[in-house]
Amino acid sequence: MYSGYIGKLIEELENLPGIGSKSAQRMAFHIIGMPKERVERLSNAILQAKEHIRYCEECCTLTDQNKCSVCADTERDHSTIMVVENSRDLAAYEKTGKYKGVYHVLHGAISPMLGIGPADIRLKELIHRLEGDVKEVIIATNSSLEGETTAMYISKLIKPTGIRVTRIASGVPVGGDLEYIDEVTLLRALDGRTEI
Ligand code: ZN
Repeated sequence: MYSGYIGKLIEELENLPGIGSKSAQRMAFHIIGMPKERVERLSNAILQAKEHIRYCEECCTLTDQNKCSVCADTERDHSTIMVVENSRDLAAYEKTGKYKGVYHVLHGAISPMLGIGPADIRLKELIHRLEGDVKEVIIATNSSLEGETTAMYISKLIKPTGIRVTRIASGVPVGGDLEYIDEVTLLRALDGRTEI
């Protein structure tokens, strides 16, 4: 429909998650209409984020330091690890300001249907952390099929070590992404966690 540079821009935008062809066109024309300095700021922000953001060496969340601010905080309880699927879930719990432990970010969940196995998420890193002083692992993966499969897998893996493994309460709606759930529900799910 559009040729040349504009077509290329629309195509790139369309490849982003949640962006349909109509939105991509609207965004492309909006960008073309923007002052050049703003376009430069936008493309620099993308490039710099890509260049500087890495995985925290402890919890694997996205950060621009070797260690994220949570892992670097000595006031936090480093013997309690909450396992979440992604950095957005971590941010949702951090927003409540009530959780004092640390996290582990898997960057996905096990999904036999999509061909995502245990080796495709950051599980090895979690197991490595358990060699330290860990008292409890709270599994806060989503209540989707993938999230539950992942929770069961992790629990079976950790059980033999004697470390307490808990699962957040099912107050979290099925299939609901943690980031969209309000703080009260999140805290209730955390408080109501049970041993698995
Ligand atoms: Zn970290």
